[in-house]
Amino acid sequence: MSLIYKGQNLFIDNTSIKSIAKNNITPFYVYSYKKIRNNFQTFSNFFKRVEPLICFSVKSNSNISLISELGKLGSGADVVSEGELLKALKAKIKPNKIVFSGVGKTENELKLAVKKRLLLINIESESEAKLIDKISKKINRVTPIGIRINPGVDANTHSKISTGRVDSKFGLPISNFLRFCKSAKKFKNIKIKGISVHIGSQITSVEPYRKTLNILYKIIKSSKINFEYVDLGGGFGIPYQNKEKKIDIGNYSKLVKKFQKKIDCKIIFEPGRFIVGNAGTLISKVIFIKKNGKKYFVIIDAGMNDFMRPALYNARHNIIPVLKSKKKIGGKVEFVGPICESTDTFLKYGNFSFLDENDLIAITNVGAYGSTLSSNYNTKPLASEIVVKNGKVKIVRKRQKISEII
Ligand SMILES: *Cc1c(COP(=O)(O)O)cnc(C)c1O
Repeated sequence: MSLIYKGQNLFIDNTSIKSIAKNNITPFYVYSYKKIRNNFQTFSNFFKRVEPLICFSVKSNSNISLISELGKLGSGADVVSEGELLKALKAKIKPNKIVFSGVGKTENELKLAVKKRLLLINIESESEAKLIDKISKKINRVTPIGIRINPGVDANTHSKISTGRVDSKFGLPISNFLRFCKSAKKFKNIKIKGISVHIGSQITSVEPYRKTLNILYKIIKSSKINFEYVDLGGGFGIPYQNKEKKIDIGNYSKLVKKFQKKIDCKIIFEPGRFIVGNAGTLISKVIFIKKNGKKYFVIIDAGMNDFMRPALYNARHNIIPVLKSKKKIGGKVEFVGPICESTDTFLKYGNFSFLDENDLIAITNVGAYGSTLSSNYNTKPLASEIVVKNGKVKIVRKRQKISEII
């Protein structure tokens, strides 16, 4: 755990949150570098025998400092836009460790990707392959591509983060994939090097992954193509609540190793949430407390503009006090943001540690899809991002100035 109480005070690793809040306007994101490094190493260790290329999913957290730290640990990057690609390059990730995913890459984005000679551009339609071929031909180049397939597997996760079902927009359905493999010879300026899947996010069971491996094995055999890379995507879930079950990655790694023995390929993974999810905390200040009926509304200065997962996915992120009290509030509590939307609400508790106006609270496990999903809604500035590394506190993204958005 990167968050611990020492006495009544909340610490991230060995640094007190209160001391960070002294010099920084709330709300702000704070990340534990140690946790990110441990998560990356845990993930690598699970797959030691597979020797995969791990391409961190930049959309889960696109802070350049964090990407750069991950790069130093050996990570590549999985990007889904020109902006993310430029961030990964700025973080000094080598182009031959970058894969470009996404269902709607524009011509300009593809031109940049071709020019930079990425490891793989994972295409999601036949039209995209055609466009990459055209772009590559103009500059006399053969571009390596991967084909993202839609395996028709339900990841049994939240419907809004499920991407592998037959009816989803992602990837090529299996029949189109096989047709494309036959016809692709006519494209002289692309080379099919990879096949990729990504069936969804916050997956907590090995079963959908096992099904996907079986399907991949079958269709790779029928395609008669020797894929140098099999990109198995991301999606590894993390527990957000105490009772939630953990995905058995050790078990999955055995299945992947078996698969690799049969196919003889390099494996790529694109984890996001697993690497950064539990390493980030959003610190917010209580603006007002009011009692409406029997319920206490604790109105905090972080809103859905800062952290959208609860509003977007009904995600539940625990809230804990920065200074624990022995007293209780003494009634039902709902934490809400300042934004003018009913969905701008975080979590309800039957009771909570006593809080006063101006006290600090921490929203936990927000390292993935936290800051990257934030917006300027209600013309609010983007919060700052802070990393704690070896006892040092470093601002890795300054709080946006209101003048920048006016
Ligand atoms: C979002 C995404 C990921 C990362 O998913 P996580 O659940 O954060 O691991 C990986 N690959 C692709 C193609 C994605 O769209």
